[in-house]
Formats: sequence, structure tokens, C-alpha cells
Amino acid sequence: MDTTQSRLWYERAQAVILGGVNSPSRAFKAVGGGYPIVMAKGEGSRFTDVDGNNYIDYLAAYGPLIHGHAHPQVMQALKAAADDGILYGTPTKWEVEFAEMLRLAIPDLERIRFVNSGTEAVMTTIRVARGVTGRNKLIKFEGCYHGHSDAMLVAAGSGPSSIGVPDSAGVPQTTAADVITVPYNDLNALVDALAVHGSEVAAVLVEPIVGNFGMVPPESDTYLRDVIKVAHQAGALVIFDEVITAFRFHYGSAAQLYDVHPDLYALGKIIGGGLPIGAYGGSKDLMEKVAPLGPVYQAGTMAGNPASMRAGMACLNALMDPKVYERMTQFGLTLEKGILASAAKAGLPVTLNRIGGAFTVYFTDRKVTQYSHAKASDSERFAAMFRGLLKRGVLLAPSKYEAWFVSTAHTEADVVATLKAVDDTFMEMAQHS
Ligand code: PMP
Repeated sequence: MDTTQSRLWYERAQAVILGGVNSPSRAFKAVGGGYPIVMAKGEGSRFTDVDGNNYIDYLAAYGPLIHGHAHPQVMQALKAAADDGILYGTPTKWEVEFAEMLRLAIPDLERIRFVNSGTEAVMTTIRVARGVTGRNKLIKFEGCYHGHSDAMLVAAGSGPSSIGVPDSAGVPQTTAADVITVPYNDLNALVDALAVHGSEVAAVLVEPIVGNFGMVPPESDTYLRDVIKVAHQAGALVIFDEVITAFRFHYGSAAQLYDVHPDLYALGKIIGGGLPIGAYGGSKDLMEKVAPLGPVYQAGTMAGNPASMRAGMACLNALMDPKVYERMTQFGLTLEKGILASAAKAGLPVTLNRIGGAFTVYFTDRKVTQYSHAKASDSERFAAMFRGLLKRGVLLAPSKYEAWFVSTAHTEADVVATLKAVDDTFMEMAQHS
């Protein structure tokens, strides 16, 4: 596969864009370096790069593209939005319709605010929790990524850790000192942390199903319920970061899958249909603490922009039929079985965590329920798999902490071709080890 043009564009990029990329995870640092592939066109489940090579896409732009590229209804909505003028800076009917649609899907969202990214959504839920409780400390879970606001860059999973920097420079020590980190899927650790710091904790913040040290579900059906219970006993609020999980597994939230009710939600990714978006919300009482009704401030020039609203609605409309989730799950299951069979044949230790159409391949014998287990996944083997698949036309996120995302655009032919590429890659890896 000739990728010369990618190399040339990346060299050119490095002279003007810091590090040649606009988000660090796009560089190939976690998979042994070299130049990332520069893409030119996306269509359905496929990507074409600047050299004209074709790839089956499981990156899904790190999650938003649940319909793959250029879904016809999303494109139609976007074109209509362009025809009507891009940005208003006034209320519009589309933001109302979209908020109603989200509330119907997730009734806990009695009041919602649209922002521009998952980072902003999480950052603002934290401000709300602090504003409401009058407390400063936060508890988060080791390895979970919640965007790049200062407080959230403590022990932050797939972002910084995949490039070997567990915390970020420039985060004040005083900010980091307010963030307590405990392992996910370990209720006792949370109970212990609350026993020490409980009276100072504004919020416990969790990805209900983790997506940032690979896909990791709660180990027991009662875990999330217990997290909420012990947090509330300490007077802390509970924030579910559903930036990855909302509308990923069914038409609604991950909270609904476990029949639980956090105080606040942060949303993003899928709900924008591929356009920039974030949203946060919760009960009327809590949300009324936000300006213009309350003392917690949050604003945004681009917030609720018509293009994101209309693309988001079109994206969710196309998810309303449960069959689309059944199909993604079926493809996920077929991929899981094939990948595990190829790994066994090649003698490679592989653990695969899958929820619906989203899964992570770990190069470890152990069950992965916590960040430390994901960390133990062999980085060199991951890099070998990543590169073996890339040259065979299958694109993953370049990090062992990310998921493969099956979209509604993937076809049976894609799955067959992917499994052939996996089998060949694993055989090649076995020969070289
Ligand atoms: N929360 C979670 C769970 C995420 O996975 C991400 C992004 N990967 C974010 C927040 C931040 O979202 P954004 O990149 O849109 O700021």
C-alpha cells in the first residue's frame, strides 16, 4: 500500500499545525510513531486516503459516526441547515425540537443545555455540582477520560495515558488536589474515599460503561446503583458522563440499561451526527441553578447552532428503529467470535470486551474490569495488530485504550473482509514473535 501522499501532507502539517495533528490521539505515537494516514473522503463504512487507498472504518471519528460517513438523512439535514444560514445567535425552533427529542428518549433530562463538545459538557456539570453543593472535591475513576478541562486531566485514561503522559503540565496543583481517583468496578474503594473526603465531595463522576480504557461495563448489575447510593449518602451528586455511551447501545442512555438515575448527564459525540456538540442536563431543580435562572454561569457563541441541532436530530431519527442496534450487535458478535478464533489459532492471548457493536481487543489473558488490567494489555502487540490491519485496509483508533465501533453502515462484506485481515495479521504476528 502506497501512502506517500499521507507522509507528505503530514510533513507539511508539522510545519504549521503543532505536532501535525489537531488532537494528540490522532498522531501514531502510541503505535510506534511514523506518519498518520491523511484521509480525503468518507462514504458509509469506508474511508479513502489522499493516496486513494480504501479502508473499512472502525474509528468512527472516536465515536460520533454511528451511521458511518455521509449518512443520506444527516447530509440532507446539513444541506437544509446550510441553505437556511449557518449561525443565528438567537433561539431557534430546532434546538427546542432537539431538546424535546432528547428528553423523550432520556426523561431524566428535564432541562438541557447544548454546548460544543463533551469537554464543555462535563466541565459544566462539575460547575453545577460545585455550585449546588458548595463543595469543591470530585471523585473520578482511574483511567476514565472526561475531556481536557483542568480537573479532568487527573488519571485520565485514553487521552493522556495513551501517549504516556498520565497528567498534564499546566494543571494547577490546587486543582489536581481536589480530584480523588478510585478504581472503577471497586465499590469498596469508593466507599473508603467517601469515608475520608465525603463531606467535601461535590460530585462523583463516572462513565457508566467505560469507553476510555477500552469498553468496560460494570461488573455487576448493582454497581452503578451502589455508586449512586453511597455518593448520595455523602451528600455528593452523581454525574454520568455519557459522551460515548448515550445512544450507543440503544435509543437512550446507559443509565437506562441499569435502571438508575444520576443527577446530571453529560452528552456528546453521537447526538451531533458528526457535527461539534455537547449537552448537559438533569432535573429541573438542579438545572435551574444555571444562568439565566441561577448563579452558575455557562454560555457559548456556537451553543445550539442550527447545523449541529439538525444533523443531530437526523442522526437520532435514524436510530429509532431497534433493528439498527440489533444489526450492530450482530456484527459485533460475529467480529468478536472471529477475532477470538484467529487469536486462538495464532496462539495470541486476547481478551475482548464487547457491548453491542462496540468492543476492545486487549492483548492479555486477564479479564479487563479496571484500568490497571487495560494498562497491562501488550502495547507492542496492539501496535502490530494496528499496523497489520492498516496495511490490509482496516482502520482502528491508534491506541490500545480505544474501541472498535461498528456503525449502521457496516455490511456483511465489511465484516468478512475485516476478519480475513485480522486472521492474516494475527498469523503474521505469530510468525514474528
Ligand atoms: N467524555 C468522554 C467519556 C469522552 O470519551 C470524551 C471524548 N473522547 C469526552 C468526554 C470529551 O469530548 P470532546 O472530545 O467532544 O471534548
